[in-house]
Amino acid sequence: MSTPPLASGPEGPYALRPLLDTVLDALRDGTRARGGPLPSGGPDAVAARVRDVVGDVLPDEGDPDALHALVRALAEGAADPADPLCAGHLHCPPLAVATAADLAASILNPSLDSWDQAPAAAELEAQVARELALEAGASDALVTTGGTESNQLALLLARETQGADVRLVCGANAHHSLARAAWLLGLAEPVIVPAPAGTLDPAALDAALTALPGPCLVAATAGTTDAGLIDPLPEISGLCSAHRARLHIDAAYGGGLLFSDRHRDKLAGLERAHTITLDLHKLGWQPVAAGLLAVRHPRDLAALNQRADYLNADDDIDAGLPDLVGRSLRTTRRPDILKIAVTLKTLGRSGLGALVDRVCDRAREFAALVRDHPGFELHDRPTISTVLFRPAHATDDAVAAVRRRLLTDGRAVLGRARMDDRLWLKATFLNPATRPADLAALLDAVATVVAPVVESVAKELVDEIPAGPADNPAESLAE
Ligand SMILES: *Cc1c(COP(=O)(O)O)cnc(C)c1O
Repeated sequence: MSTPPLASGPEGPYALRPLLDTVLDALRDGTRARGGPLPSGGPDAVAARVRDVVGDVLPDEGDPDALHALVRALAEGAADPADPLCAGHLHCPPLAVATAADLAASILNPSLDSWDQAPAAAELEAQVARELALEAGASDALVTTGGTESNQLALLLARETQGADVRLVCGANAHHSLARAAWLLGLAEPVIVPAPAGTLDPAALDAALTALPGPCLVAATAGTTDAGLIDPLPEISGLCSAHRARLHIDAAYGGGLLFSDRHRDKLAGLERAHTITLDLHKLGWQPVAAGLLAVRHPRDLAALNQRADYLNADDDIDAGLPDLVGRSLRTTRRPDILKIAVTLKTLGRSGLGALVDRVCDRAREFAALVRDHPGFELHDRPTISTVLFRPAHATDDAVAAVRRRLLTDGRAVLGRARMDDRLWLKATFLNPATRPADLAALLDAVATVVAPVVESVAKELVDEIPAGPADNPAESLAE
């Protein structure tokens, strides 16, 4: 057998061009076959279709049609964030230009663990990460796989600068990855400060910091995952200064507001953090992964220094080869900075800001539709681009069932969030191509399933009663 063609080198483009045609055709065919925001039929139906296409995972003889067949199957079975009715999560439709740049990253395959594997990519990363850090009011940034890794690094840097007895203090609204990072790093259980209105309560934070004797890392959130709310950053940073606590701000979602003249004021106080999580695969329209951890004091990064003779021998460093090992906890590492750099330069601040403004506008318009619809209840006006709402007079069980019915019918992807002790449907608008008419279609799709779902949830409950009383049947019945 001859060697299969390679992606890079002088012949690479010739080998790739026909394969790209195959991929694009398969994407088109799969997307057409799906015909909606996600595949219908639920997990069993999707699993059966995938099993069918995959067949023998590692056959004795290869199959030249595998590229088309598998890409088509993945597209057919995808939840497509480019569909306006796919609005469940902080899951963005990637920009074509960013995705094209990411293809180049795959082709060139630089690895950012040593200069001799990524000479230009290493320099591009250094320059672009630093500029993004300055944009957030910090001075340098590490590239990560997303908010989770950024939060882990933030806690690690806090532990290495404040000591192993550092205590994480965060709101009940904080992302779960923070508490998990504390567990991973062997820190004490975090102190959870109440967030009754969805944002961290400064008075409760003050009380918690007053009661804690040792070093603290306060983690605030700029853009909560559940509701897109922004903690009162100026007050929180003031309290951190007063109590000599270190401050981390998780701006995985809200960080994108930095690009918008209209919305960046909402992030006032961000620049006072020691570390900031940014995530451009949310409000930045990058293909996964595109995370950053910005740091105010580059000296904090010294904690990550490490010698591995094959990557950063002393004499190589003395001779001027950049040392990349301390830029990550990973070793082999993709140049995710390329797609980010291409996006920033192609769209510019005004182009990116316009996308941010547009999705925020769509959220406000959707909230207005919900408010004016007698069949629905609106939680609140959106701060960023998340809208929480629920069918009027429905039980939590019915709200959950409505969401699942939309998923299994393949009609719409909505998320869920618990606020004020009630379950809400969550629409997260990240698609800048969504038009106002699509918003009405989304609400219609939900309205269509509400009545039958509420009825069947109520009926199940009635059927259950003879078998044994529910906790509180009166409360779980639809009103
Ligand atoms: C999404 C999110 C994260 C996690 O980011 P990943 O990229 O999914 O790892 C962390 N914090 C907040 C506030 C988020 O919204």
